[in-house]
Amino acid sequence: MTAAEVSEHVEDVIIVEAGPSGLAVTVCLSLCGVHSLMLERDDCVASLWRHRTYDSIRLHLTKHHCALPHVPHDAATPTYLLRDDFLHYLDAYADCFVVRSYLRCELHLVSKEIWNVAMTLYRFMPLWVIDKIVLLMCAIVFGDTARYGLRRPTIGPFTMKLTTPVYPIVDVGTFSKIRSGEIRDSTVEFTDGKRHDFDAIIFATSYRSTIKQWLKSDDSLIGDDGMARRSYPEHWKGENGLYCAGLVRRGIYGCCEDAEFIAGDISRQQQQRRSSKPHDDGDNGNGSG
Ligand SMILES: Cc1cc2nc3c(=O)[nH]c(=O)nc-3n(C[C@H](O)[C@H](O)[C@H](O)COP(=O)(O)OP(=O)(O)OC[C@H]3O[C@@H](n4cnc5c(N)ncnc54)[C@H](O)[C@@H]3O)c2cc1C
Repeated sequence: MTAAEVSEHVEDVIIVEAGPSGLAVTVCLSLCGVHSLMLERDDCVASLWRHRTYDSIRLHLTKHHCALPHVPHDAATPTYLLRDDFLHYLDAYADCFVVRSYLRCELHLVSKEIWNVAMTLYRFMPLWVIDKIVLLMCAIVFGDTARYGLRRPTIGPFTMKLTTPVYPIVDVGTFSKIRSGEIRDSTVEFTDGKRHDFDAIIFATSYRSTIKQWLKSDDSLIGDDGMARRSYPEHWKGENGLYCAGLVRRGIYGCCEDAEFIAGDISRQQQQRRSSKPHDDGDNGNGSG
């Protein structure tokens, strides 16, 4: 691998959450060729099921109604899944599609230049040395990212890239906006519809959603109770690239339907934009990490 082979991921869509809805949307988008990034406030996928349900709980609908898009449960799976079976399924689903999540507690933020240095050193140095050099450069460039809620994992960035499905995030300007307060905490503010780096933002924050308390610009998508304002099937699309998934109380089956609607809509829009640009430079992301 050479430095020339490196390029950064540029995500088109933010998905706010990493539960079943977020996973379903991520995978549907990815199969349509749309890059997305999940922002999860917890430190794992499916945190509701992992941390806020009791061990012996089972899904109350049969497995046929509780599969996420494109991955049915296999024949050996019990008809009514136990919590651990469902968690295992969700973890495998995320791993299988190499879901890129940005679990709020931990991530490695690097710059394109730093990552190119790391890739150049890759031929000559052991991973742990490259990790140390990268972290030193990151400290100089970004300072202490934990002050802005972006804690670094204990595993080094280069080791992480080579040994796990999670990649460092290549910053293309977002961090300076977070540092300057233009983007505050996990909130992205839309005051005039022009100040975002993403094509779409999808809220999939489920029953105890606090979206209404911090989302400032969209009146049509989220109701006062934090759920979808409009009723099914008109609920999932708002203004200015905002969408919601899993917010009409239709269970896992509803999460899947929303994921398919949203991914179809975003991918259609991307195709229209691309076909209206005769000399488009092409795809910005490449999955290399
Ligand atoms: C006990 C129980 C049993 C159920 N059984 C079934 C069943 O058998 N069949 C069925 O179809 N459905 C069932 N459901 C419903 C189903 O679990 C939910 O529909 C499903 O978990 C919804 O997934 P979700 O991703 O929309 O939300 P959740 O699983 O709740 O995930 C929401 C995620 O959003 C994150 N989040 C919230 N706010 C923010 C924020 N501001 N920033 C970043 N992240 C945020 C949370 O940390 C969480 O990880 C059950 C629900 C419960 C509670």
